[in-house]
Amino acid sequence: MEKILVGVIGATGMVGQNYIRLLDNHPWFEVVYVAASPGSAGKRYEEAVAGRWHMLTEIPHRVRNLIVADANRISKAKDRCTLLFSALEMDKRVVADLELEYASEGFAVVSNNSAHRWTEDVPMMIPEVNPHHLNIIPDQRKKRGWRSGLIAVKSNCSIQSYITPIYALERGGYKVSRMILSTLEALSGAGYPGPAAIDVVDNIIPYIKGEEEKSEIEPNKVLAEIENGAFINRDPIRVSAHCNRVPVTHGHTACVSLEFAGSKPTLEEIRHLWREFSGIPQELDLPFAPKQPIIYREEIDRPQPRKDRDKDKGMAVVVGRLRECPVFDIRFVGLHHNTVRGAAGGAILTAELLRAQGYLGH
Ligand code: NAP
Repeated sequence: MEKILVGVIGATGMVGQNYIRLLDNHPWFEVVYVAASPGSAGKRYEEAVAGRWHMLTEIPHRVRNLIVADANRISKAKDRCTLLFSALEMDKRVVADLELEYASEGFAVVSNNSAHRWTEDVPMMIPEVNPHHLNIIPDQRKKRGWRSGLIAVKSNCSIQSYITPIYALERGGYKVSRMILSTLEALSGAGYPGPAAIDVVDNIIPYIKGEEEKSEIEPNKVLAEIENGAFINRDPIRVSAHCNRVPVTHGHTACVSLEFAGSKPTLEEIRHLWREFSGIPQELDLPFAPKQPIIYREEIDRPQPRKDRDKDKGMAVVVGRLRECPVFDIRFVGLHHNTVRGAAGGAILTAELLRAQGYLGH
């Protein structure tokens, strides 16, 4: 099969480097184009990330010598690739305009940036939860006059520690009405260099700009239905979020209490619904789909970031500590790898779903 030629914009950052690592030898996609800020433009990729390559594997051979382009210059990507992963960190309005321009030039853009998460016709994808949200793409193209271009985005990383487990319960017939959660978010979630060492060693920072607001509204778009070309959630979950930065390198943890709207599942039913959960990516056997999207750990002291974040290529959500809640109905701890499932890996899975559903023209 001929591979789809791929570009990564923001290729030198924390998420961008994960794309470069994860896409090496991908069966469907091949990275042929990398772009970043004007400061990196013109350098070989290897030079541009010298001293800040954070991956534990070497820079893939195919990418090492690619010349980094300026991501603001769309013409540079033309005729090089058709699918673009966007991992830019810069002014949101600039990112929003840039991604629209790329899409209008015919690129399929899958983005980690939050700039388009609330754009009415842009799907916010977690492929096991809302694969049908891609059905909005024909409307998006028609409305904007795009033939091959599109934009799909990832949700905020931290919500992925609990959204798939919640969706599995809702699909099993147990609607969630309210949720209180506290996140313990890894340093890599802040990009590179992130917070200064002196601020985080022996410390916890109980504030992450914008994170609580995102955590309180994004779940309801991910769980929405499409009505008249927009995402509508007629029965949103009320969420109260506390988000904390902790001295962990990778892996966001969330401690979650849930209240159900109607009947309440037993703990045994919940464990069963989680263990049996499987979605369209598993049915289609997409290359990045974890075999078991939700792994339940029985040990009383799991999940833990260092021990559980890499399960199934870093694509599985690991849950544990399920128990009754004396205030709401149940509580549990969820964990996922923030730069893999929560960012680059989740976006690659979204692109695989786009391809499987025929939106990438192959
Ligand atoms: P990062 O490490 O700060 O990397 C930012 C990237 O943007 C770099 O490639 C940088 O290029 C490029 N960039 C910065 N200014 C630019 C400009 N003016 N023009 C063009 N390119 C520019 O950030 P990150 O953690 O990878 O995050 C990338 C995006 O993913 C953000 O929107 C973030 O919110 C989102 N996200 C991150 C995570 C996570 O766990 N880290 C998870 C989910 C979503 P240079 O290297 O040349 O400066």
